[in-house]
Amino acid sequence: MEKREELYRGKAKSVYKTDDADRLILLFRNDTSAFDGKRIEQLDRKGMVNNKFNAFIMQKLEAAGIPTQFDKLLADNEVLVKKLDMIPVECVVRNYAAGSLVKRLGVEEGIKLNPYTFELFLKDDAKGDPFINDSHVVAFGWGTAEQLARMKELSLKVNEVLSKLFDDAGLLLVDFKLEFGVFRDGSIVLGDEFSPDGCRLWDKDTKKKMDKDRFRQGLGDVIEAYEEVAQRLGVPL
Ligand code: ADP
Ligand code: UDP
Repeated sequence: MEKREELYRGKAKSVYKTDDADRLILLFRNDTSAFDGKRIEQLDRKGMVNNKFNAFIMQKLEAAGIPTQFDKLLADNEVLVKKLDMIPVECVVRNYAAGSLVKRLGVEEGIKLNPYTFELFLKDDAKGDPFINDSHVVAFGWGTAEQLARMKELSLKVNEVLSKLFDDAGLLLVDFKLEFGVFRDGSIVLGDEFSPDGCRLWDKDTKKKMDKDRFRQGLGDVIEAYEEVAQRLGVPL
């Protein structure tokens, strides 16, 4: 597999073309951003930890019947993935109240949501990733009603599989964000990444935050927490 030119440089990853028109390389950098890119810092080992963490989770999801972009790990910081036409919508599933939900509704952090909630945000940093609903997705042509229904179905299946996986490791899956894209054959496939950068994980007993909120809230030991989560799950680092 030959790495070709850079297609896109995001806040945390760089995307490269390959000699295969259906495959891209994602390079996970150490850059860590918060508040829609307004704060960016370098954290040692983050690229490697998130790359391996993501590979582990994507393979678990694939095994559970969820179509993912994952093809194979190429290096500590690089993974080969299916090239997707990304749908610019972030799908957020929540099991407990935290983050923007707490701010928006003025509810207490940690309340159990029964059942889970499913939310959509437009992926647009310049606009602050605004909260949207399904009719906006269809009306503005970001996705079709059928694609949206599939994204929701897959997001809820991911929640089922990962809530159990993290629970077995003594962790609460509080919430998470997924991005989907359309593969060449027209199917909806899970893209981007699943790592502690894009979800909230709390220790079941102590409620210690083990995810990117450690960075957002200046709690320290960010990568140490990611590594502990990886170790509890049995992710080979
Ligand atoms: P951001 O764009 O939010 O700054 P990243 O730094 O993570 O995020 O950049 C990765 C970019 O690559 C994102 O825009 C994401 O939508 C896109 N992407 C992720 N997976 C794929 C894929 N399989 N095919 C095409 N694009 C992808
Ligand atoms: N999230 C993300 N990228 C975003 C926005 C949110 O990965 O651009 C994740 C975030 O880490 C959390 C979940 O989605 O696990 C819900 O985020 P929320 O809406 O609470 O926003 P936040 O206050 O975290 O920005």
